[in-house]
Amino acid sequence: MKNIALIGVGYVGLVSGASFADLGNKVTCVDINEERIANLNRGIMPIFEPGLEELTRRNVGAGRLIFTTSYEEALKDADYVFIAVGTPSDVDGQADLRYVRMAAESIADTMDHYLIIVNKSTVPVGTGDWVAEIMRSRRPDVPDFDVVSCPEFLREGSAITDFMNPDRVILGSTNRDAAESVAHLHLPLRTTLMITDLRTAEMVKYASNAFLAAKISFINEIANICEALGADVKEVAYGMGLDNRIGPAFLDAGLGWGGSCFPKDVKALASMAEVESRHPHLLHAVMDINRDQRHAPIRKVEAFLGRDLRGKVIGILGLAFKPNTDDMRDAPSIDIIRNLQRRGAIVRAYDPVAAAKAAEILDDVEMAKSAYELAEGADALILVTEWNEFKNLDLARIHTSMAQPVLIDGRNVYDPGKARDLGFQYTGIGRGYEGRGVPHPLDETETH
Ligand code: NAD
Repeated sequence: MKNIALIGVGYVGLVSGASFADLGNKVTCVDINEERIANLNRGIMPIFEPGLEELTRRNVGAGRLIFTTSYEEALKDADYVFIAVGTPSDVDGQADLRYVRMAAESIADTMDHYLIIVNKSTVPVGTGDWVAEIMRSRRPDVPDFDVVSCPEFLREGSAITDFMNPDRVILGSTNRDAAESVAHLHLPLRTTLMITDLRTAEMVKYASNAFLAAKISFINEIANICEALGADVKEVAYGMGLDNRIGPAFLDAGLGWGGSCFPKDVKALASMAEVESRHPHLLHAVMDINRDQRHAPIRKVEAFLGRDLRGKVIGILGLAFKPNTDDMRDAPSIDIIRNLQRRGAIVRAYDPVAAAKAAEILDDVEMAKSAYELAEGADALILVTEWNEFKNLDLARIHTSMAQPVLIDGRNVYDPGKARDLGFQYTGIGRGYEGRGVPHPLDETETH
């Protein structure tokens, strides 16, 4: 059993802390947010993540997982200190490292023995060295320490499964022994452990996220071309994904990526390149395509209801940036709703989990209690987040209750043929054959 201090109890920190505790370590999580810690000590979760409440409860009960606001308490017997604080974008698109700096200074102020400091936050290349400098300048007589970069790749919505079954663990350090020590902590995960230098490890995270964002923007660009040329992007993606060199993941055309990671990480990587006088043309294209994609449902609503949306009631199915999370950070729904409101539309929304968080961000959006309530009297529905419960809605009931049966399927969840047979004026993303009146053989069989 190792003693781990974990700084920052957000999506990454809480999942990592509870998971490391479940692997038999003693984990003390520290956060500057007193309310968050007080709630956690009462068993109240600060975020929605499947399985997290039960995992946390079990490990708190076993005495392996502790929540505190005290760095002294967290660092007292620690072998490792994991940093998992937020690194949002600043106004220039660079990563804002103020929380990492605060955490590094607090560690330097508090530590009284050798520690391995493991950075899990996504941080610009060079931050590991910078953390060491900050600590040494903050406290010239700081005890010895090493810094290891261990970027996190979990996804919200499947965070615990991802943490426990990673495709790989990347470790970077100037001291190989320190990196190997952190590698040991991950042995129970039975995965590929890659040890490299600090900067390379930091870069692996940005390059991975930028590549995944690029894959989504790529298929969305293909979707737009499919619409113009009368091809079906779902079939195109399926056909592409059968190629081992491409693979099927991240080829779902839709309303683009959002959330707390891709937008800020692609922006930060582009900024890093520009500071070094490199011109990241591809990264800019990836971001531009994603921004444009959020206009797609507006164009589609206008195609059915006309350009004057004043007074039209539009229902938004799904608000979170993706299913199985309540995270609203940079969710496509925000831009889509504000755009509709600017055009005078009356916007209602329903999300199974994120409605409360969304209500803090969005003005004048009436939150419905169900998809069926949302549909009543609506002139159009736009599916923005593909929650499972939307996949099996009683579409006939929805159709009957709407004022106008316009259904914009922003995530290609529904079968176009069946939706039209029910009487919907339906459109998805990139399903160009729809407009040609040609029945599609796979609509009936849904072979994949
Ligand atoms: P978050 O905003 O959910 O949580 C951050 C937590 O850190 C907050 O509770 C905050 O109060 C706390 N904090 C800030 N400064 C502190 C300090 N000085 N001392 C103690 N606590 C402090 O953030 P997140 O989504 O968990 O992301 C954390 C990092 O992990 C980011 O760099 C992010 O890019 C990266 N990451 C996130 C995900 C994800 O899916 N959310 C996935 C992989 C990597």
